[in-house]
Amino acid sequence: MTHPISFVSLGPGEPELITVKGLRQLQKADIIYCPATRNRQGEILSRAADIIRALEINETAIRCFMLPMSKDRTEAWKVYDALYNEAADRYRNGQRIVIVAEGDAGFYSSIQYIYDKFTKAGIAVQRTAGIPAFIAAGALAGLHIVKQEEEIVVIPGTPSADELSEKINAGYVIVIMKLSQCVEAVYECIRRHPQAQFHYFENVGTDKEYYTSDKQIITQKSFPYFSLMIIQAV
Ligand code: SAH
Repeated sequence: MTHPISFVSLGPGEPELITVKGLRQLQKADIIYCPATRNRQGEILSRAADIIRALEINETAIRCFMLPMSKDRTEAWKVYDALYNEAADRYRNGQRIVIVAEGDAGFYSSIQYIYDKFTKAGIAVQRTAGIPAFIAAGALAGLHIVKQEEEIVVIPGTPSADELSEKINAGYVIVIMKLSQCVEAVYECIRRHPQAQFHYFENVGTDKEYYTSDKQIITQKSFPYFSLMIIQAV
């Protein structure tokens, strides 16, 4: 008997922010694949594995797979292909496989690549929704993220200062993911739009969680990988 390969969204970092459904999937799993990276000292870092270890789950099921952080995704696709092959074998042997992702597994989450590959191969998959980081960020700061007739755009850290400015002028609420990739555009827009509010977040839901809307502090900060911004044009 085979069991569908389960993609579980872990939420933004705080272990309690996983869903009950996701937790049950993890508790039943024979193998839990977690994305990990290596720091400059060669240590393995996995926020996903940290979340799982804080929950009541059999830790021996955890398998970390190493994702290269370079912008060139070629190496990452190779890692995903190897993971796909291993998981497909275990699936055929009747094991219960879970593959996890931080936040929601279908929101700027490259793991969906493997999900699509299983689907194409006729292997059964399922996905459990999770709380994306920007929603948890809104709760942390007590923001009414969008209200009444307002519209929201969620973008990766790709805009130039002019492109970002245009969206602020258009009155959108703007969520910038992967903020570390557009530091200068954000600094510039803070200067150009004194009336707008800039909410800066990093490591939401972890013990390094940080929030500020102080423009002076923001323009003196460097933005780590786990940072995002919500801009409200008032
Ligand atoms: N699937 C995730 C997004 C992954 S893309 C989700 O649903 O939220 C990676 C980007 O998400 C990071 O560059 C950062 O902008 C944001 N992010 C993820 N977790 C975060 C956290 N705990 N605190 C702040 N930003 C976070």
